Amino acid sequence: MRSPTCIFCQIIEKQRPASVVYEDERYLAFMDIYPWRPGHVLIIPKVHHQRLRQLTPQWAQGLFALAHRISDGVRHGNPSCDDVHFLINDGNAANQTVPHIHLHIIPRRRGDLWRLALALCARPIVPLLPPRSRRVLDREAAEIQRHIPD
Ligand code: AMP
Ligand code: ZN
Repeated sequence: MRSPTCIFCQIIEKQRPASVVYEDERYLAFMDIYPWRPGHVLIIPKVHHQRLRQLTPQWAQGLFALAHRISDGVRHGNPSCDDVHFLINDGNAANQTVPHIHLHIIPRRRGDLWRLALALCARPIVPLLPPRSRRVLDREAAEIQRHIPD
């Protein structure tokens, strides 16, 4: 059910900090600590599987239903957000770095492609860079949370 060495399982178990946007018995959503664009959220199921196809249809359906709700919070809780990416990196060759399924919601603003491209180019050196400050992540999480529809 959980993997003790998985950083996302450790976040679920509250052994690591996270700026939580949403939580229920089955899913957890929190701010990405190295956002591709400010306001980048990750949604995870509370079961440890690496790949989307390992989720039952019910779990996958719940993940996408929640992604819709959270994307509303991301759009409306961030004045710089015009639209979003829904992204799953499914496997190592697809640049999945954390082997626990996660759905990225990445805010986009018109004309920000070059900023996204820069962030993507910097991915290989991300572990050498400081993460986004917890204070800022907590503030962004609170704003998104306030705008998630029921
Ligand atoms: P992926 O490359 O699709 O596996 O995405 C993993 C994401 O997890 C990356 O965007 C990382 O910035 C993010 N990440 C890694 N560690 C943490 C953490 N402790 N808290 C929040 N996000 C994290
Ligand atoms: Zn895990």
